[in-house]
Amino acid sequence: MLELAGSRALVTGGSRGIGLSIAEALAVAGADVVLCHLNDGERAAAEAKRLSAKTGRKISHIDADVGDCDAARAMVAKAAELMGGIDLCISNAGICQFTPFLEIDSANWSKHVATNFSGGFFVTQRAAQLMAEQKTGGRIVFVTSVGAFRSNATQTHYCATKSGLHILAMGMAIELAPFGITVNCIAPGWIHTDINDAASRDTSAVENWIQWNCPAGRLGKPQDCGGAAVFLCSKEASYVTGATITVDGGWNAKL
Ligand code: NAD
Repeated sequence: MLELAGSRALVTGGSRGIGLSIAEALAVAGADVVLCHLNDGERAAAEAKRLSAKTGRKISHIDADVGDCDAARAMVAKAAELMGGIDLCISNAGICQFTPFLEIDSANWSKHVATNFSGGFFVTQRAAQLMAEQKTGGRIVFVTSVGAFRSNATQTHYCATKSGLHILAMGMAIELAPFGITVNCIAPGWIHTDINDAASRDTSAVENWIQWNCPAGRLGKPQDCGGAAVFLCSKEASYVTGATITVDGGWNAKL
């Protein structure tokens, strides 16, 4: 059985959705976890309390905007301070405002780039620096998207940021391997969370998508992503770096 006993994990976007499910899976496997979120303190506090009671691990939470360089770096340092170090960093925080390409204004574009792309860089670079100083190796996992490989109407800007993370992870995998730090990606397909709640409740759109795009025959759940994260963070995955695990019910495999 994969286990992470004694590991110290930071999960950005950990207050709900995919990040929360990954945090839960890591804590169940034995890791202490810091949940980073933006303006979601009440929920983060309640989930930290629940996870702590369920797993007996130390679960903390920090409110910080990953798209703000100074705030992101300070948040990572604070997370390491709370846990006495950092071994696992899951860069998951992200936004998606569905907008037709011709209507994407500069504020919308900049917000996606800052949160989804720059935020991933700010957080994981600081985490990697701390891991390198510790000399104990480490694990970095980006939650990208199948949108890193192909795009979609109203998600042009979003998919561009995810594609950026994909190649960022590959470069980091090369440079951080000598430090015993692996860098990998989880690319979810369509997972029902707050980010797409309206679309996920549109029964005919979902049925149509399942019929034409999803061999597994159902929408994804946040819990579908936890196992991939535990594996990539485990010692069994020490030779896996620069890789992506798609968690998409086969969507990306289809023509
Ligand atoms: P969600 O809206 O349920 O959760 C988003 C989380 O990110 C929250 O905890 C929120 O507080 C945090 N967050 C948002 N902006 C932030 C910021 N600037 N700084 C710090 N935290 C911030 O969304 P989700 O569906 O769970 O998405 C999680 C990740 O998975 C995102 O990167 C998203 O792009 C990716 N993803 C989601 C899907 C899907 O279908 N749900 C598919 C592919 C990829």
